[in-house]
Amino acid sequence: MNSNHNTVRISCAYDGGNIQFRSTRPNELDSTITDVIVVVKQDEYTELEQIAHKQYFSFRSTVNDSITKCRYILDNASTTSYPEAWKDATVCYSSDLYDPDSWKRVLNTRYENGKLVWDMQHTGTMYFAYFPPFSYQRHLDLISKCQQKTTVLSLGQSLEGREIECVKVGTGERLAWIIHRQHPGETMAEFYAEGLLSRLLNLNDDDSTNDPVVKQVLEMYTFYIVPCMCPDGAVRGHLRTNAAGANLNREWATKHYYEAPTLERSPEVFWVLRHMDETGVDVFLDVHGDEEIPYNFLSGAEQTPAWGPRLQALHGAFGAAYERSNSDMQLEIGYPPPESPEQAAQYMNVATNQVSNRFNCLGMTLEMPFKDCWTNKNPERGWSPARSRQLGAGVLEAFVYVHPYLRDDTEFWTQLPLEDRYVEPTDDYRHLEETMPLYQFIQLNRRFYSDVHEIHKKETSGLDQGKKE
Ligand SMILES: [Zn+2]
Repeated sequence: MNSNHNTVRISCAYDGGNIQFRSTRPNELDSTITDVIVVVKQDEYTELEQIAHKQYFSFRSTVNDSITKCRYILDNASTTSYPEAWKDATVCYSSDLYDPDSWKRVLNTRYENGKLVWDMQHTGTMYFAYFPPFSYQRHLDLISKCQQKTTVLSLGQSLEGREIECVKVGTGERLAWIIHRQHPGETMAEFYAEGLLSRLLNLNDDDSTNDPVVKQVLEMYTFYIVPCMCPDGAVRGHLRTNAAGANLNREWATKHYYEAPTLERSPEVFWVLRHMDETGVDVFLDVHGDEEIPYNFLSGAEQTPAWGPRLQALHGAFGAAYERSNSDMQLEIGYPPPESPEQAAQYMNVATNQVSNRFNCLGMTLEMPFKDCWTNKNPERGWSPARSRQLGAGVLEAFVYVHPYLRDDTEFWTQLPLEDRYVEPTDDYRHLEETMPLYQFIQLNRRFYSDVHEIHKKETSGLDQGKKE
């Protein structure tokens, strides 16, 4: 073996790191290239879904000489939770781990023969990640800054003893709950929280004290904002679960004989839900990232018992106002809603469905891409922490817009303009790229709405099986 091939060191021994080093070897076709074989580590086993999730990775590669060209090979890409999501994915890289705005995309990333592969020649240390990390240190800094401006509640502790913080701000009568990062690998969700809180609280001490929308929204609402629902999974570099393997977005209600939430398995949800019961909820937003779909979108509580003309109109008006305030939001592409109330009833343990029905209120899941955002493409950066922050800041206009209707018990939807109407989303985004007319859309991969890719769960014949298509 050429000595070059021993000069690459792989490590993930830091907050949010996830990788397992397998080996290095000279490339079969080009001996100037060193193949670096790595695999993603799995989350703790998820009892309800009977699957060990894996997809998020973040690692450090240190190369000691200047002539080594590295070909990184993620060897188990085809057995991750969402293998079809690797197509069009680009790996993020930076030499500065904790500067979120330093990360760019490796444009030669490709998914071939079941492996995610990318090439890079670099000396010294380079970091690679599925999405730029949001560290626990950064989380604590955010909480400290918020605390200098407003009340920060601790609703309870995670299984490993981290606080579940909730930032309370505003004096309005309407109660808005916004939670982030139930799925810890979806780090863009906490960047979103950072943007939202920075605007609401003027955390950067710029001239946004003159922001008329902020002034207005704080008079309309009292916000309860949880920046990170799953700090344990975040520190561990998990994709989807807490320290006990619980997928928190399936822990909002008991399902069959699987009791949830519980203090033993999902205290993060248990405490948040208990606090919601004490305060009440008029509008709910749950912020996530989606591995496959290269768009931002909202998903609602369609087909659940509470859904009807009122919630449909509120959902439509919120989305339309959001799209007007930030062109990275769009309404056409998203999870197709369930086809029947029976199908939706299988998913009352999902936060949006549970909260929307428990409080008879507008409830939404917001998804951001891991990939580039195809509404405003930027391949060099892809969807980024900066754009996530902007999207978080831009949601306030939508809150202002729907405020008069949230608890309006008249048939207000008959008065709303046509541009506010509910748009039923399709996930057939590849056809949109080919500019086919809307009526020609074909559903390629059936998925349920409030979360992604339930289809894999069905294959594992888990407890949480969906209905057959
Ligand atoms: Zn998620």
